[in-house]
Formats: sequence, C-alpha cells, structure tokens
Amino acid sequence: MIQIAIDGPSGAGKSTVAKALAAKLGIVYVDTGALYRTIGYYVRSKNVDPKDPVAVEALLPEIEIELKYENGTQIVCLNGENLGDKIRTPEMSMYASAVSAIPAVRAFLLDTQRDIAKKNSVIMDGRDIGTVILPNADVKIYLTASNECRAQRRCDELKAKGIETSYEEVLADMIERDRADSTREVAPAVAAPDAVTFDNSWMTPDECTAKLAELVLSKTGARA
Ligand code: C5P
Repeated sequence: MIQIAIDGPSGAGKSTVAKALAAKLGIVYVDTGALYRTIGYYVRSKNVDPKDPVAVEALLPEIEIELKYENGTQIVCLNGENLGDKIRTPEMSMYASAVSAIPAVRAFLLDTQRDIAKKNSVIMDGRDIGTVILPNADVKIYLTASNECRAQRRCDELKAKGIETSYEEVLADMIERDRADSTREVAPAVAAPDAVTFDNSWMTPDECTAKLAELVLSKTGARA
C-alpha cells in the first residue's frame, strides 16, 4: 500500500495534480478539504457562528459524513445528502477555515481520514496530511505557488462553476484564509520537515503532474 501526502495553501493546484496522479497510479484520491467544507456547510445551515468552539462542537453528534467514489470522483454525503458544488463557494471556504481551527472538529474527522488510508493506497490532499494524518507517508509534497497565480487559478475555477467574484476579492480572501490556516494552534498548515516543497507557479498542471510522478517513482518505485 502506498500513501502520498500533498499539503499546501489554497489554489496551489493540489486537487488537480492529486487527481491526475491518483488516476495514473490507480489509487484513491482523498480531498480532505471537502470534509471541513461539509462541516462548515452544516454549521452555516444551523446559523451557528463557525468561530464558536462550544456551539460548533455541540453540532458534531448530528453530523454523519460519508465518502463515496463514483468513477474515481469523490462524493461527500452529509447525513445522506450529496452536497455537490454547494460546498465550493467562497463563503464555504471561509466557514471551512473557521471550523477547521476547532480541535474537536479535527478530532471528529481524524478517523474518517485514517480509515481510508488503512484500507486503500491513497493520495490525500489537505493542510496537515504529512504532519498529522499520515506522518509515515511514503511521499510528502508541499505544493505552493505565488499568491497572484493561486488567486487567478481560484478565480478561473469559480468562474467555471458559475460563481462570479472579483480577482481582488479572491486574493484578499485567500491571503486571510492562508494566514488563519497557517497560524492556528492545532495542526497549522505548514510543510512537514520531510516534505519536498514544490513551487508550480510557472507550470501547467500537466508539467506539474509529470514532475511529481517522477518524485513518486524515485521514492516508491511506483510508476505514475
Ligand atoms: O483545500 P480546501 O480549500 O478545500 O480546504 C478548505 C479549508 O479546510 C482550508 O482553508 C483549511 O482551513 C481546512 N483544511 C484543513 N485541513 C485539511 C484540509 C482543509 O484545515 N487537511
């Protein structure tokens, strides 16, 4: 079994390359951000302040999250409902970031993430995969890019989903979310000491995937 951890800030292209690598290797891709987004979505639906740890923790027993796979695509179900793109809005990004700083939320999602990696070879993307979730991963990658590149990519992604936002707004939200994620007390979004840091500002997704496939081959002998 292989474990590949990809961490890094928002908009660095983690999910695009992780999905491509998973398909090439024939292993399971896990988008862990979707789990935090799902909790954020539930908290929002109950009109609870996502920064109130006591109120958010009180909601956790009402939440059942299931990860399913259809044609290699991850589907997250909240209490039986497939939320689809409802968790992809800028508002849900901020809700996810706020609830993710609450220790009880991280503890709640720990087993879901580790269980998948126990049963399958995985490539998991997130913020604390190499540091907390899979500390013994075979390959750890910290993927990053300049703020401007990441904001432009996020803008394009949102536009493709029919969500209109300005570049300036996306850039400001992204910088704020990265600041909150990397300075929180529990599981801050930082590179694991043994991660290979990779700046893909000037690469296409295909070029980045090819470089990471070489890295996977050199570390595991598995050909992606
Ligand atoms: O990756 P994505 O942008 O979907 O993540 C949404 C938010 O979820 C992040 O800003 C971060 O606060 C949180 N997150 C986390 N740990 C992970 C994955 C995501 O704290 N492993």
